[in-house]
Amino acid sequence: MTLSLHHDPRHELDHDLDVVGDDTPVRLTTGETVRFAHLDHAASAPCVRAAADAVRDLLPFAGSVHRGTGLRSQTSTLEYERARDLVASFAGARTGDSVVFTRNTTDALNLLARALPPGTTTVVFDGEHHANLLPWPRQLRLPCPDSPDAAVAALHGALRTVRGPALLAVTGASNVTGEVWPVRRLADVAHAYGARVVVDAAQLAPHSPVDLTALGADYLAFSGHKLYAPFGAGVLAGRADWLDAAPPYLAGGGASGVVGDRAGEVTWVRGPARHEGGTPNLLGAVALGAVCAALGRADRAALHAREQELLARLREGLAGVPGAVEVSAFGGAVPQLGIVSLALDGHDPAAVAAHLADRYGVGVRAGQFCAHPLTRRLTASARAAACGSGAAGLLRVSFGLGTRDEDLDRLTRALAETLSQGE
Ligand code: PLP
Repeated sequence: MTLSLHHDPRHELDHDLDVVGDDTPVRLTTGETVRFAHLDHAASAPCVRAAADAVRDLLPFAGSVHRGTGLRSQTSTLEYERARDLVASFAGARTGDSVVFTRNTTDALNLLARALPPGTTTVVFDGEHHANLLPWPRQLRLPCPDSPDAAVAALHGALRTVRGPALLAVTGASNVTGEVWPVRRLADVAHAYGARVVVDAAQLAPHSPVDLTALGADYLAFSGHKLYAPFGAGVLAGRADWLDAAPPYLAGGGASGVVGDRAGEVTWVRGPARHEGGTPNLLGAVALGAVCAALGRADRAALHAREQELLARLREGLAGVPGAVEVSAFGGAVPQLGIVSLALDGHDPAAVAAHLADRYGVGVRAGQFCAHPLTRRLTASARAAACGSGAAGLLRVSFGLGTRDEDLDRLTRALAETLSQGE
């Protein structure tokens, strides 16, 4: 007695990647009402139809996963495991890899950090998001490089000194500059020293195919809410041995096999369930699986081309905005996603961001984006080039599916007016 939900004919339509809430109106301080322009995808992207449909279709049947024989539980178990398969395929998981549902990327990286064999050294560049900087217990931290060659050389130097198990934790793309890191080259170096590699794909996955083998990664982590799915579900995919040997991330039901009468008498299951203790986030996982499937069917080259068109348009617009200067770690030597951070000459990024929202209906983000070492460095070098402000932080514009030319045009016009008025 099970119900399979994945033959809904609506999923045949080509609207899976349409953004939900694309026409949300917002009332400005001027009294005018405009369509809200969400240019903060890097924080959380809007949901797409595939995610919303998956949640809507499953809700009437939602029940406890892996815990019952009734229709709801059976259907939910089936859909949860199907979502795992869809995510596995999106991530290019290999036979024997484990695909663990987590809460988000932060959770996924913390899970891996807890599963490291004793004595593992994690090599990490300080250009990382805090989620990939802080969890590693014994780390060798390297300064953010200014070129792919410098990154490779620094990694060689570091791994030469490491004794015992080693892991390279590296981002697929920077959440501050949108720059795509030379992951494959770094992974090849790491593997030459016998080290493993985890790729923080929180920003890469929404913009580009992520394949464990193509990236040369042993593990991949990403978040549903940045990948056009709702909040609360993320993934750690990769080699099963460390994960199966580690204590469960969350001790409790689902993770345990046999529990004895005395304290400490317990066996733990192997496989993803070992680290998914408690009732899982069924709807989050199923929505994430649906988006992975939709992106898998999509013409990613066409999506990439459209994003690059938007990036070029944004840069063209920004060229006419004195006082806003794009920051970069690699100086144009690597590809870039739809994420641009700006140093503002003499303006407080937080005040400017608030003004853009209130006066123009444009949502961007200001601050240090949970990447303090990197933003400090970028702000300092912008200041040294006489184009940075005295205020801390940057202004970030990020976009993706559903972004219109008009959104970026409004942003550049708004920024030009705001900066010229001395906001
Ligand atoms: N890694 C990168 C590169 C990010 O941009 C983010 C979020 O901004 C994270 C990790 C953490 O993601 P989450 O907050 O979903 O755990």
